Amino acid sequence: MIKCWLTCMKCAQTQPMGLVSRCACGGLLAVEYDLELAKRTLTKEALADRASSMWRYIELLPVQRENAVVSLGEGWTPLIRMTRAEAQLPLKRLYVKREEQNPTGSFKSRGFSSAVSLLHERGIAKAAVPSNGNAASALAAYCARAGMEAYVFVPQDCPELIIQECLNYGAHVYLVDGFIHDAGRIVEEGKATEGWFNTGTMREPGRVEGKKTMGLEMAEQLEWQLPDVIVYPTGGGSGIIGLWKAFRELKELGWVHGELPRLVSVQEAGCQPIVDAVQGFGAGGSSSDTLPTGLRVPEPPDCGIIAELLKQTKGTAVAVTQGEIMKAQQALGKQGISASPEGAATWAGLMRLIEEGWIGTDDSVVLFNTSHAIKYESLQPKPTVPVIRTYANFVHWKRN
Ligand SMILES: *Cc1c(COP(=O)(O)O)cnc(C)c1O
Repeated sequence: MIKCWLTCMKCAQTQPMGLVSRCACGGLLAVEYDLELAKRTLTKEALADRASSMWRYIELLPVQRENAVVSLGEGWTPLIRMTRAEAQLPLKRLYVKREEQNPTGSFKSRGFSSAVSLLHERGIAKAAVPSNGNAASALAAYCARAGMEAYVFVPQDCPELIIQECLNYGAHVYLVDGFIHDAGRIVEEGKATEGWFNTGTMREPGRVEGKKTMGLEMAEQLEWQLPDVIVYPTGGGSGIIGLWKAFRELKELGWVHGELPRLVSVQEAGCQPIVDAVQGFGAGGSSSDTLPTGLRVPEPPDCGIIAELLKQTKGTAVAVTQGEIMKAQQALGKQGISASPEGAATWAGLMRLIEEGWIGTDDSVVLFNTSHAIKYESLQPKPTVPVIRTYANFVHWKRN
């Protein structure tokens, strides 16, 4: 039985499953599954007894053998309801998917659990990635888990804690004087000589499939009732493709019905190629004074596809400023959520869309907090907090 194969998103030609991402026509290849085969073992009842990890959906993941799975306990992150915010905002329901609780502190764990499993299954011993940070630490962790070598290339201003994290996992770490696409060129150029496999965005089919599990999980956690709107912080865009793919497969399985959620990409103003593509402008902005986060991808490889999927779901894309992101980080913090700048950007996007009336009282909304605030600590100014020794000191500070 053939579990899955690759189908071109442009010309619909199919080919056997493999570690390739481009069709001869140049189109992006997507994994397609024999869903009738999947249904034999993947049932809603069966899910009740499965592991609390993304591998509970193994029938919809591209590994051939279960013992090839490289796992650190990724996925099955909480989806929590924001009841206090709901009482104040003109919307029906609001949830946050807490992706920062993944093994490497970001949703990138999912993509690399899946991608590294595929490499491992084929005996590949060395992998590389161009990254803004979280992909690097995820590749490093999963390679370490599998006993493989990782080479990671991140911009010079990558948050220090993430660099440290990569080193702790034993990766070969290089700082690149440039953006993520400059790092990408280094990885591509070196692959023949160095013998590393390029696990960059949309270079192999595993990462999108891993990210897809965010959508599967969210649907299961909402008892197969999809929300009206999903706000997602977008960089390279494979998260959006993954979510879209999840809902399409669930529809084909007959587990969800009706319209797909309106997908919204949030980017940081100044590095907003997806927003520009949705609005029909050419990509603009220098990107150099935007934050060194997962959103800083000036040249996403499949910008057109992302814009198309957003439009297809009647979604949109918004650019929010650094100031709005900082404010949003505090707004989520005050609700108990440790949000990375990217995760906080979704809250800022939500505020904007409510203001514009694009999100209203009938809408249930899910925000994705893709990473933990702590990883970006070095980007914050040193906090000023009073130092005290006695209660009298406390009283003094409280008065001032
Ligand atoms: C990589 C990353 C993003 C962007 O995700 P894409 O799927 O590449 O669009 C968003 N947030 C965080 C924390 C990231 O690490």
